[in-house]
Amino acid sequence: MPASPTLLWLRCDLRLSDHPALAAAWARGGPVIPVYVHDADDVSSSAPGAASRWWLHHSLAALDKSLRARRGRLTLATGSVVETLANLVRTTGATAVYWQRSHEPAARAIESALSQRLGELGVEARAFPGALLFEPDTVRNRQGGPFQVFTPFWRHLQTLEVAPPVAMPGGDWPAPSRWPASLALDALALLPTRQWADGFSSEWEPGEAGAQRRLERFLDGPVDDYAARRDFPAEPGTSRLSPHFHFGEVTPRQIWAALRARAGESGVFPSGAGEQTFLREVGWREFAAHLLHHFPHTSERPLRAAWERFPWRPLDAEGRAWLRAWQRGQTGYPIVDAGMRELWATGWMHNRVRMVVASFLVKHLRLSWTHGAAWFTDTLVDADLASNTLGWQWSAGCGADAAPYFRIFNPVAQGTRFDAEGAYVRRWVPELARLPARHVHAPWQATPEVLSRAGVTLGKTYPFPLVEHAAARAAALTAYRQLSAGG
Ligand code: FAD
Repeated sequence: MPASPTLLWLRCDLRLSDHPALAAAWARGGPVIPVYVHDADDVSSSAPGAASRWWLHHSLAALDKSLRARRGRLTLATGSVVETLANLVRTTGATAVYWQRSHEPAARAIESALSQRLGELGVEARAFPGALLFEPDTVRNRQGGPFQVFTPFWRHLQTLEVAPPVAMPGGDWPAPSRWPASLALDALALLPTRQWADGFSSEWEPGEAGAQRRLERFLDGPVDDYAARRDFPAEPGTSRLSPHFHFGEVTPRQIWAALRARAGESGVFPSGAGEQTFLREVGWREFAAHLLHHFPHTSERPLRAAWERFPWRPLDAEGRAWLRAWQRGQTGYPIVDAGMRELWATGWMHNRVRMVVASFLVKHLRLSWTHGAAWFTDTLVDADLASNTLGWQWSAGCGADAAPYFRIFNPVAQGTRFDAEGAYVRRWVPELARLPARHVHAPWQATPEVLSRAGVTLGKTYPFPLVEHAAARAAALTAYRQLSAGG
């Protein structure tokens, strides 16, 4: 008797290679039916915002294409995950549902509900690793607890053996005699209804093949200069793999293996500052997932409980206007505005600038990090609950291993240091493009003649600074002292 089908439930694992759940489903011997269920009401969805939904649309299309090339196909459905998969079990006669484990709290809750439901139906339910180098429960500090500081976490990880990637089974896809009915991709309504994301296509190639191409390009040179160039937003110094990572189109084990292979005969791994620093950044992604797994409340509330009392500016009329100015890249600080406009235009922002714009929101404007995190969630193609939470709580000073609150980035100094010639600002804030480099990060300090020659009229073609740096800094420090005095 032929073996019964296995449903392969896909979320943030839109790839065929290094996929333990897929390999196990295949090894069962029966047909394998890959399924993606889109639940528009599910907060734990793999694409939590408009930009990541754009990515998801194209990544699902790419996955279906790869599957069809192997005589497989992707089944698409909408609705509650548990009910949809339970129905598919009934209609396909599947006796097992396999998936890659998530580390996000709401996604884990769905996994538990699904396991319970499948148990009631007498169907095997199994979650597999795959998103991380190591499952968070297996990584413990000396006291047996979770790590809360990055450096010892990373040191510890480097003492562990990383498993090699799982090979994709060869040959044609084990297809069922009849595929279940699938919705058309457009029926998932993932693409934005207005033209906003049109520019994304020239920046990105969603899907596993795009991820592999980007990785190859990066390892073919840029990685060697990564340590030296990664902080300069005008340069193509980083990998831009983050959305591919989020959607599981590439895995950290594949990165590890690719760098090991690159070491070749020399055996030196990681070789050089570039590779070391790059792997360390992949380690930050791992740390973010570790923290969210062990401290699931942190996507909404500060890891450090005292910060619940921080006197954030309320979202009254002024607060809302300031938030809008930040979102639209109209704060009057060129490096901040360039970052926010890069985000809007491409769905991505350079890490150095993410730190600058986040610091500006929470310290200069004293608006809660949760407002910034929500905007990033909606507009980043790599929006990722764990990394976004870590990034924002780090910037606000209320998270694990966070930047101390009293270290307040000066946006002019950051611009001058990391975008000395102003190339990044000129690209994203074209109304300042003709200003000389020494004024491009602080146009209000230029003389009227310089401004006029560059065609800049402050308050008209480009805003005056929303807040004055020294005064905003002093106000932030006062608020911080209040918090400290409160114990
Ligand atoms: P590279 O420099 O090439 O790094 C390689 C990979 O390492 C990245 O693709 C990413 O997966 C990982 N990585 C690098 N830096 C970090 C970091 N600081 N934290 C966690 N992982 C890291 N990253 C996201 O993927 N999604 C987010 O929603 C997100 N929100 C952020 C919010 C704030 C306020 C800040 C300061 C950072 C945030 N980051 C987030 C982390 C980081 O900015 C991006 O991962 C990085 O800019 C992606 O570009 P890249 O792929 O070229 O990175």
